[in-house]
Amino acid sequence: MTSTNPDLQSVVTDIANEMAQRSDRGEVASYIPELAGVDANQFGLVVIDADGNIAAGGDSEAPFSIQSISKVFTLTLALGMIGDRLWRRVGREPSGNPFNSIVQLERERGVPRNPFINAGAIAVTDVIVSGHQPRESLGEILRFMRFLAQDSSIVIDHAVAASEKRTGYRNTALANYMKSFGVLENPVDFTLGVYFHHCAIAMSCRQLAMAGRYLAHSGTNPSTGFSIVPAERARRINALMLTCGHYDGSGEFAYRVGLPGKSGVGGGILAIAPGKASIAVWAPGLDANGNSHLGRIALEALTRRLGWSIFGV
Ligand code: GLN
Repeated sequence: MTSTNPDLQSVVTDIANEMAQRSDRGEVASYIPELAGVDANQFGLVVIDADGNIAAGGDSEAPFSIQSISKVFTLTLALGMIGDRLWRRVGREPSGNPFNSIVQLERERGVPRNPFINAGAIAVTDVIVSGHQPRESLGEILRFMRFLAQDSSIVIDHAVAASEKRTGYRNTALANYMKSFGVLENPVDFTLGVYFHHCAIAMSCRQLAMAGRYLAHSGTNPSTGFSIVPAERARRINALMLTCGHYDGSGEFAYRVGLPGKSGVGGGILAIAPGKASIAVWAPGLDANGNSHLGRIALEALTRRLGWSIFGV
């Protein structure tokens, strides 16, 4: 369904046009060639409201590497598998550190601060891997993404996954360190293999905004009626996205945008306006914290114009 909400569509079109004019685009991630080669001039924005109206602007259909945004969905899956026992293996506090930091892990005996920093997401992936072959776990994650987005064309970019693995010294160190404390149950290679591949899922803003709808509507996709998680769990995932979704930029994101959000180094952000909309934005250039520079600016403009910040108008 395309937008029958002209106000929403005109806001999205205006913001896409404004972003196209800007010359401050941040820097694309440079640690792997597949991301280093992405054109920083691209920008996409999709907002899907409670009625299923889709407002789209810019490169809204272009697939990009979702990277750490996948951590929202692996957290959802892992909670579905072991419930609150997950919190024995990962914390729920903001880290105040970069996404790939190792310093806190030693002090906190291998238990990562939260599920969205790399160490935490690797621990979450380990839960999904337990009792399965890595290939099965990965298949389950991909099927979940396709189901949520109602789109069977979503795939993993295998070149990105291979590059993640080839350059993943820091993530390998984090995983080995957690393994030494018994926080990981499975062979480090198995868990990391699945982690690298789920970070390499490619999706468009439209697909991502579709996939996030359950978080905006108390755990249920309002268009299909499918219940994905109980309302309480959706609310709690949103709370973690707000406090931890942008690493050491989470405070600034809450201050400026005022929505739960999860970023990835591919330049995407999934943001949730509870009860109102699921939002995906993509601008490949990053700020110093590794979060999309124009993505955050676009979301700030959107929430200001629509009065959607959870903290008030
Ligand atoms: N694959 C990236 C990593 O593990 C994800 C980081 C991110 O998106 N912030 O380093």
